Amino acid sequence: MAKADSLLAGDLSDLRGALDRRDCSAVELVQASLDAMDARADLAAIVFRRDEAALTEAEAADERIASGKPASPLDGLPVVLKDNIVQAGEPATCASRILEGYVSPFDSGVVERLQRAGAIVVGRANLDEFAMGSSTENSIHGPSRNPWDPERACGGSSGGSAAAVAAGLVPLAFGSDTGGSIRQPASFCGVVGFKPTYGRVSRWGLVAYASSLDQIGPFARRVADCALALEAVGGHDDRDSTSLPEVVPPLRSRLDGDVSGLVVGLPKEYFAPEGAQPGVLARVREAIGVLEGEGVRFVEISLPHTAYTIATYYIIATAEASSNLARFDGVRYGRRAEHPKDLLDLYERSRSEGFGAEVKRRILLGTYVLSAGYYDAYYVKAQKVRTLIRRDFEAAFGECDAILTPTTPETAFALGAKAGDPLSMYLSDVYTVSANLAGLPALSVPCGFVDGMPVGLQLLGKPLDEATILRIGDAFERRTDHHRQSPPGPPGSPGTD
Ligand code: GLN
Repeated sequence: MAKADSLLAGDLSDLRGALDRRDCSAVELVQASLDAMDARADLAAIVFRRDEAALTEAEAADERIASGKPASPLDGLPVVLKDNIVQAGEPATCASRILEGYVSPFDSGVVERLQRAGAIVVGRANLDEFAMGSSTENSIHGPSRNPWDPERACGGSSGGSAAAVAAGLVPLAFGSDTGGSIRQPASFCGVVGFKPTYGRVSRWGLVAYASSLDQIGPFARRVADCALALEAVGGHDDRDSTSLPEVVPPLRSRLDGDVSGLVVGLPKEYFAPEGAQPGVLARVREAIGVLEGEGVRFVEISLPHTAYTIATYYIIATAEASSNLARFDGVRYGRRAEHPKDLLDLYERSRSEGFGAEVKRRILLGTYVLSAGYYDAYYVKAQKVRTLIRRDFEAAFGECDAILTPTTPETAFALGAKAGDPLSMYLSDVYTVSANLAGLPALSVPCGFVDGMPVGLQLLGKPLDEATILRIGDAFERRTDHHRQSPPGPPGSPGTD
């Protein structure tokens, strides 16, 4: 078991090798993952567990492996899902009171593909309510903690998934990214986070926040593991009308460390000294130096509409959220107010009792920007600016193969530091929302530390060109050891105070 334990903190290819050589079994791995969840209950990363079902599935995986026919490279490996990606027979609270007691009658597209690949869902991870937030502080389950410093936020909204991978509870987790919710927590927790091109991964069974921006993606400790995850869960799904028809090309086989001759753009608006913590910019500049040493050519580019991204995002995202969340009215899903006087009272009380403060703020904002008289001034205007932002990227990609920026302006902030100030919370997405507005693939890779807290660099690619950013991220990993650093163990464990 000690073997399975230490393997869990490794990468997927080590785990695959260990399973195929029978150094450990899938049952042992899953048990080690469940034990690690017990040991790190202090992180509050996991909100539901599947102990029994996961162990039964692991037995079946062990039989496939013993017969020499693993279903895929993920067969027998434990994974965690953000609690807004549904699985049949399991809860999906989206960290909201309104979905307390809800049990999904169906599998999401991602769960179907993971099951086909033999991966084993061991638990469901914490998030901000309906994925709205940057710290998991907007969760009915309470905030998750950053494994590098439990007084700090793990980021959000997919913070529980990031913390679970960082703390070695699982080697792979899935989250959703509407404006940065995979990349920002990955950066805060020192793991790799990957948002594929909009439409690459089926949104069927992802509880919708802002449908034109939402995208599912993986967290792992290695870029190659994120490539493997996309190979497993990506591709067309008829049940998601925005799912892309293109087949996901082989990605891992193209990670050979050779990046010479690639041209990478550095948008000057993302490197403004007043925009980010000096230590964050210093780590990112060091990373640029490493890649230059590998033959990458860097060019300065401009994305002139950058100043409008946050405002544009918060108009479009709240507008879509106000429409998507209209379905939670106490009739069909989840919580229903007791003893309603009439139908209106049922709607009003179910919603006011069920939604938290940030979700209500977004529904109000979204309803406002969509209402007659304001629609043209806000919603239509924001759509026009979104087009300008997308065109900025189209023009920039005429000059470069990929774009590199910091993932976040600062390292993980203290829990509570921004909870009372929504605007400063919104600004933690300042470098990430543009990829969602433009539909681009984006990757966050660990690139060092400031005062003991991880820093991430972000790579943005052309639509459908996940391969190039994965290649650059992987080449960077090969030359550095940031991804090998582990946070301290649980309180009271050896090596911690
Ligand atoms: N923090 C951003 C928001 O609150 C992004 C969230 C996300 O990507 N789901 O909307």
